[in-house]
Amino acid sequence: MPFAIEATNPRTRAVDLNRLGKILRTREELEAYDVASESWQKALQRRYKTHQEMKGILNHVEEVDTSIYDHFDMRVTPYLAQLMDRDDLNCPIRKQYMPFQGELNVREYEIADSLAEDHDMRDGSTVVHRYPNRVLFLVTTNCGTYCRYCTRKRFVSHRESAVNKQQLESGFRYLESHPEIDDCLLSGGDPLLLSDRQLEDILSQIRIRAPHIKFLRIGSRLPVQLPTRITPELCALIERYEVQMVNVHVNHLKEITPLFADRIKMLRKTGTMIGNQSVLLKGVNDDIATLRGLCMGLVSCGIRPYYCYSCDVAEGNHAYQLTLERILKLYHGLRGFISGPAVPTFVIDGTGGLGKMPIIPNYVRELANGAVWATSFEGKVHRMMNLEKGILEP
Ligand SMILES: *Cc1c(COP(=O)(O)O)cnc(C)c1O
Ligand code: SF4
Repeated sequence: MPFAIEATNPRTRAVDLNRLGKILRTREELEAYDVASESWQKALQRRYKTHQEMKGILNHVEEVDTSIYDHFDMRVTPYLAQLMDRDDLNCPIRKQYMPFQGELNVREYEIADSLAEDHDMRDGSTVVHRYPNRVLFLVTTNCGTYCRYCTRKRFVSHRESAVNKQQLESGFRYLESHPEIDDCLLSGGDPLLLSDRQLEDILSQIRIRAPHIKFLRIGSRLPVQLPTRITPELCALIERYEVQMVNVHVNHLKEITPLFADRIKMLRKTGTMIGNQSVLLKGVNDDIATLRGLCMGLVSCGIRPYYCYSCDVAEGNHAYQLTLERILKLYHGLRGFISGPAVPTFVIDGTGGLGKMPIIPNYVRELANGAVWATSFEGKVHRMMNLEKGILEP
């Protein structure tokens, strides 16, 4: 099985949580911990916040300048800590979430707000209105665990940037007064870090005040960072407010655990579409075998790979970036080799707010003389029929 789902740690067993402090300090405590035995809120309280704390459970933890945390916080859920390889610095989970010293060496071309989202925020709200019919509504600046390559690290995790009630209200008012908007995507930060009550407030305000919104979606990485966030209560909210799509953010097959697959199954029963967006990251998922495994792993859980992004040029992101040539090669390695519905659209979100642009290899080309040349998925080049005349010209 090329995309076998990894078994959970066989040593995982119930443990008397009351005997433990909030953070699982030793490897033994971590391995004995069963995340499904307690609420997601409790699990969040057990997040690791420093490299010092991680030293109790991982080997070869880098010595870093603690000013990293001021720049962009560190949080690691105990569930993700269990997925991290104890010894391997190249573990794809460690690479995504362990802050590293190089983050502080910002390159001159890197930009804090590389997508110019602040520029497109409307009327004192956190609604980003860039495309004609749809908006991105940033409802919180907190996340379960902070991905080091985050495009919004300029405000995500920063307490002084928290989204306040007035901004939310301005956002509802903006939606209310713009009937041309028929699609609203809740994001952040991570909307599922809000309590069910806070989330219900937002969903109900949108549904009551902006009935012209036909398509309501939530983007969240919490199902990957802490699958127990998907509860029957959350599913009831998604059903009640007819959230038509939940987009998760899986980057590696290692993140598709039995617990994740199980909770996704629960979420699918609500009838919502489930999509995935990945970010192409050097050293994490920039090889064809890994991407094939990831994409087939997603469809096997009933998740449609939606977007695959190139890593944005936010400050400190250079360590993850790939060349366009490499990205095109990765796409070529998917199309035709794995199931069609498992192939995501590759996109670059243009620096300066150009919006998303698809990265599409040139499989079919028409030359000036009208001849059509096509490259098969295996890379063979063929001359095809002239489309207009329906004949194969000499
Ligand atoms: C990505 C994005 C959307 C949603 O785009 P889709 O291609 O419809 O998924 C909307 N607004 C902004 C600002 C975005 O970045
Ligand atoms: S979950 Fe999304 S918003 Fe949060 S840190 Fe990761 S990339 Fe950034």
